[in-house]
Amino acid sequence: MNKPATFYAWLAGLLEGEGNFQAHNSNYPQIKLTMTDEDVVARAATALGRRYHRYESRHPNWKPGFTLNICGKDAIGLMMAIYPFLGTRRRSKVRELLMLWRPTRSGNVNRDKVVCKRGHPFTTENTYRRKDGHGRRDCMACRRLVMKRVNARRKIERAARKAVA
Ligand SMILES: [Zn+2]
Repeated sequence: MNKPATFYAWLAGLLEGEGNFQAHNSNYPQIKLTMTDEDVVARAATALGRRYHRYESRHPNWKPGFTLNICGKDAIGLMMAIYPFLGTRRRSKVRELLMLWRPTRSGNVNRDKVVCKRGHPFTTENTYRRKDGHGRRDCMACRRLVMKRVNARRKIERAARKAVA
């Protein structure tokens, strides 16, 4: 999924309003978009290379609905892509779903991890790839935390040195 940021920004806004982020069977991540505006659902589906479904409303006077369903690894990928554009409530929902998701296919536990040990998502913005040839990933949020602590300790040490000088 390599699309311009504007696409993900648009999709994030759409899903924040009309989408549903949930864990199916308690751990299987799912994004569901349901609307009566077929053109909007169709645009999202086409861009993502997906199909959407029409369903008839049970109420005879209500309009039919259109729904786009994305689950599993694809849902995780999409959540990561739109994460920077989401609001607080959706972000914490996404983090919760990422924590529940345990991919097992490739057998490479670290590569498959979608969150760091503190639960920050490995989104593009939050991931630093080490240039050591192994391409190991570091969590930027954690690096900032560590730097903050290091700086705080240095400050205390400087103050202590000054006090005894
Ligand atoms: Zn982290």
